[in-house]
Amino acid sequence: MPDFSRRDLFKTASAAGAGAVVLPAVAAAAAEDHGSGSPAVASAPGIATSPPAELTGRIVRPQDPDYADASLGWDELFTHYPLVIVFAQETQDVVNALTWARQNNVSLRVRSGRHALEGWSNVDNGIVIDVSELKSVRINTGTRIVKVGAGLNQLEAVTTLSEKNLAVTTGSEGTVGLSGATLGGGFGFLTRRQGMACDALIGAEVVIPSGADRAKAITVNSRSYPDLLWALRGAGNGNYGIVTSLTYQAAPLKRVVYVQATWDGLGYLTPIFDAYQRYAPYTDTRLGTQLEVHKPQILFFGVLAEGTVAEARRLLAPILSIGKPTVTVKVGSWGDIYAGFQIPTAEDPANWKFFSQFVSRPFPKRAISIIRAFMQDAPTDDSNYFAQAFGGVVRRSAPPGGTAFPHRNALFYAEPGAGWGTRGDEESGEPLTPVAQAWIAEFSQALRPYVNGAYVNVPNIAQQDWPTAYWGPNFDRLRKIKTKYDPNNIFQYEQSVPPCC
Ligand SMILES: Cc1cc2nc3c(=O)[nH]c(=O)nc-3n(C[C@H](O)[C@H](O)[C@H](O)COP(=O)(O)OP(=O)(O)OC[C@H]3O[C@@H](n4cnc5c(N)ncnc54)[C@H](O)[C@@H]3O)c2cc1C
Repeated sequence: MPDFSRRDLFKTASAAGAGAVVLPAVAAAAAEDHGSGSPAVASAPGIATSPPAELTGRIVRPQDPDYADASLGWDELFTHYPLVIVFAQETQDVVNALTWARQNNVSLRVRSGRHALEGWSNVDNGIVIDVSELKSVRINTGTRIVKVGAGLNQLEAVTTLSEKNLAVTTGSEGTVGLSGATLGGGFGFLTRRQGMACDALIGAEVVIPSGADRAKAITVNSRSYPDLLWALRGAGNGNYGIVTSLTYQAAPLKRVVYVQATWDGLGYLTPIFDAYQRYAPYTDTRLGTQLEVHKPQILFFGVLAEGTVAEARRLLAPILSIGKPTVTVKVGSWGDIYAGFQIPTAEDPANWKFFSQFVSRPFPKRAISIIRAFMQDAPTDDSNYFAQAFGGVVRRSAPPGGTAFPHRNALFYAEPGAGWGTRGDEESGEPLTPVAQAWIAEFSQALRPYVNGAYVNVPNIAQQDWPTAYWGPNFDRLRKIKTKYDPNNIFQYEQSVPPCC
């Protein structure tokens, strides 16, 4: 069999890409010299209408030594070879990059924390506009209004806010981009107390297309472009523009109690799962919890905001009283606790495939036995079935103006996930790839009768009804807003919101 490893392909693509990156000024000159330019430039709409844009910021091209690192995402299952990656240092770099992409008719993707789970924040032969180096932070402790650059990851955001005894909801993995998480919804341990991350979003700076071939930055809030603010709250990932800063209304948070419990084996899965789904969505709203089922063990995590250890033990008794779990309890600032449960990325499997599902009625015993059967047969010990309880504030209320995120009635979010292979060693995972892919597809399919809805931040690539699965009745409104801000569908990818006419 010919050896077309990803690394070889990378070398080939790099070589091709090195000659293929064409800046407008250079391309225009080439067109004059030879009577014909590159196809991209020849077909570029509007190149005559505005002066050619130049790329600015930190620019990485295929011939640069850091190209491979600059291109690789967290999920190494997906590899792409962009023509150029622009690491914006300020908003103007983003404006220039979007203008350049439009003038040269080059596909573009927006990227922040690189955790896109189908690799859709990168693109072959296109431009990646990366905002991860926009790290500004402005906190008004009086109003608790926080404005941050779109490049913060969740750990940076949690740590920085915690120093001021403040918090917004984030997911639990620190290296995930705050932008990507918030713009698709963003749930975590604080969701039952404070709602989704997008519920706290009260403003943003966004770079959008302007005129025939240019771009501009606009400030979005409840008074200016409120329709776009609504769309950014749950459907903003790469659909409408490039978010360069996010403004949140944070909540006070000083201390949390963190509880972790572990049961060996799957013997207690049925009573644990049943207690979890009947209790965790209805308990004290300060208590956020996750259940993670692995082949060798069942893990439970709980965070009680502004509570005591005694309260946490009392609230968690319905679950912790099952069997004889090993239980650890920690008390500290949210920033310290959050940093403490991070798993270094290097220890994570290289390749991941997830399916997202929302559950609004308790699983019958049959569904729990499906989970047990698949987990017993999991391709690796890292593969897992994950659940995060909803209920509480996320169920009761949306922020003024509402959100595109629709899954407020869920009892819990759930996610079968397969992880395999060693980071930096692409061949290590290859024998398991078909096994893991088949396992996750069959697992999620087996649970389909018991779930409804999916989470855009964990996209289901093969789900035919993805628009309604992600956004329910909000999809038509999202398309109208798309038509207003991006009528030419410049921001498009496999499951992006299309304009409506
Ligand atoms: C290990 C892991 C754990 C996770 N845990 C949780 C969790 O607990 N809770 C939860 O809610 N989600 C969770 N997720 C899902 C996560 O929220 C999404 O993967 C998220 O979209 C990643 O954002 P990112 O910025 O890191 O990724 P990227 O790959 O940079 O971007 C993801 C998407 O957002 C778009 N995007 C990024 N930045 C911008 C921007 N500035 N403007 C416009 N569009 C932008 C991209 O184009 C892409 O479509 C997890 C994911 C992983 C991999």
